[in-house]
Parts: sequence; C-alpha cells; structure tokens
Amino acid sequence: MTAPAVPLNPNLAALPPYNAGMTLSKARSLSGLDDIARLASNENPEGCYPAVLAALASPDFQPWRYADPGCTALRAALAEKLGCTADCIVAGNGSEEMIAAICRTVLEPQAVVLTVVPSFGLHEIEPLALGARVIKVPMTADAGFDLPKLEAALAKGPRLFFLSSPWNPVGPALDKASLDRLIAAIRPGTLFVLDEAYFEYADPDAPDGLKVLQASGIDHVVLRTFSKAYGLAGLRVGYAVCSHPEIARVLASAKTPFNVNGAAQVAALAALGDEAWMQASVARLRQERARVARALRAMGLAPAPSQTNFLFLDCGRDSAAVAADLIRAGVIVKPWREAGYEHHLRVTIGSRSENDHLIAALGQVLA
Ligand SMILES: *Cc1c(COP(=O)(O)O)cnc(C)c1O
Repeated sequence: MTAPAVPLNPNLAALPPYNAGMTLSKARSLSGLDDIARLASNENPEGCYPAVLAALASPDFQPWRYADPGCTALRAALAEKLGCTADCIVAGNGSEEMIAAICRTVLEPQAVVLTVVPSFGLHEIEPLALGARVIKVPMTADAGFDLPKLEAALAKGPRLFFLSSPWNPVGPALDKASLDRLIAAIRPGTLFVLDEAYFEYADPDAPDGLKVLQASGIDHVVLRTFSKAYGLAGLRVGYAVCSHPEIARVLASAKTPFNVNGAAQVAALAALGDEAWMQASVARLRQERARVARALRAMGLAPAPSQTNFLFLDCGRDSAAVAADLIRAGVIVKPWREAGYEHHLRVTIGSRSENDHLIAALGQVLA
C-alpha cells in the first residue's frame, strides 16, 4: 500500500507503542494451553468485589442514560475520604486519561518533563505526543530513586515532574524523608505529579503522598486508581487530586465530557463503600508477594523490594526471549523494553495457583 497523502502528526507517528500485556486468547493460541497465568498487567487476581456486582445489577446503573459528566457523587465520596474539597478532584477514564489530560493542561512543544527510568510508559509517551522533551533519571544500582540527580534536574525547573511511588515497574516507595527532599527541590513553575496507582499496597509506615503534598504548599496533582487494589481495571476509573481548584478546572476541560461511563461510576462508589474487601485482598496479596519473592530468591534471582502487587527482576539475559518461553509454558509476564533494562521482567502477583505456575515455569525456562 502507498503511504497516505494526508500528513500525520509527527509527534504521534514517532511514538513508541504502549507495551500492554498479552491477551489471554493470544497466549492460549501461542501456547496451545487453556490454563494461562496472566501476570503482566498488575490486575487484582481475586475477581470482582461482591458490592460492585450488586451495584451493577441494581437500578442505580442505567445504561441507556448518559452518565453524570461531573462524576458528582463519586467526587463527593472521594473528597470526604481524602479530606479535600470536591472541586480539587477530577475523575478520569482510568488515571491514564488524567496523565494525558495533565500533559495537555501544562505542556507545550519543547517544554521539559522530568521522570525516571525505568518508568510507567505513559509518563513519557503522553509528553512526547505533545512534542515535549523528556529527561529520565536512571534508578540507582540498588533499585532506588537517585535523589541527588533528581534534585539537580528539578533545580533546572522542568514544567512537569512525573513520579510513581510505589514505583512502577521497580517496586519501592519513597520514604517520608526522600519525598520531603524532592518537594524541597521543586521550584515554582514545576507541577509535581505523584502517581500513586499502588498506594494501597504500600507498607503501613510508607507516607501518604497526598497528605504530605497537601501540607507542602507546592503545585501538585496526585493520581490514584480503582484499577489495581480495588480490582476494577476493566471498568476504567481513576482520579486526579489537584492542589488548587483552578488546576482541576482546567484539567477537567482537557478530558472528554462523558469520560467516566455509568458502570464505572456506580462500581467505584460501591467499592468505596466497602473498603474491607479491598483491604483483605491487599493483605492476601502482600503475603503472596513475600512468598513469590522467597521462591525467586531460592532460584538465585534478586527481585527488587516491592510495595506493590508485582516484582521486578533481572533475569540475566534478554527478557523478551524469557517472556516468549514463559508464554509457551502458559505464563504471561512483562519483559521490560526500556534501554538499559532489557534483561528485566515485571511479574504481577497473581492467585496462589498462578504464582505456583509462574515459579515452576520460570525455574524451567531459566534452568
Ligand atoms: C496501572 C497504572 C496506571 C493506570 O491506571 P488506570 O487507572 O487503569 O488508567 C497509572 N499509573 C501507573 C504507575 C500504573 O501502574
């Protein structure tokens, strides 16, 4: 086929693809196996909240209606839970949509964005889509945030600073002293976006990034999501908590009007009303995380310390080849593709049987 005559946006045309986990049906056809452990996308393996299923079957869910474009009930419930006003909260079609909307809110071509490497792909892809420049500070040799390098980069006043903590794909979280150091290094004119997609999995003594930032007085947005601990990845709902209502107002203009569908709004409200299910699920997955980490260490591997629902490890050779071998054994994991980290795999903590499947398959593949 000849190239299309219409000029395509060069920033978009040059983007690296988002490295999404393989679907179950593709893994089944590649492996010829029915029993697949899907451990590539950090989903909650425990299935759906009973309260969510009940809400979706109730008259509160009206698929023939346009849902509330302002997510009023959900934002009110979040404001109460988080101790802020609803006019600082914007709900998104997943927190991913908010990453794109934040970029549209503050970036222009050539603006500088600071983040880390390895990192969550969209923290780089969305700025690049707008023609911004992305600076990435590598992790330290012991799988930590490189605070001196981040402080030096922050001193130059990037427009945006994206950081996930707990850190996808590595696993650790900033402690209070480290978060305070980063906050102190931020100059007026920089927006700090702290992505807390794994907040619920963090250790009990980890700082609540939202509370710390609310007390700091700096311009910030904190991202959280219902996709991970709350187990609603397929419904797409997350949110941004902004330091200032004016940031939230402009951020809301950068989304589509009916971005959070009716099922997602009803489900997220029901989930917030029953946090005990989520907390019990998180407790079980933390135990499984410790068990899988021990099994990997017994194989001679060294997963990074994790405060998330996944483990990140150097498998000592090209991880794409290891991931392909694992697919043939019925296990989907995520081979990391960023330069310098091509020997790393990220594996989600699944159900007990999925984790046993992973441990056995990885033992065979690496033997
Ligand atoms: C999973 C993830 C998200 C995206 O979550 P959605 O709410 O499903 O869009 C955002 N940030 C990080 C760091 C994640 O790992």
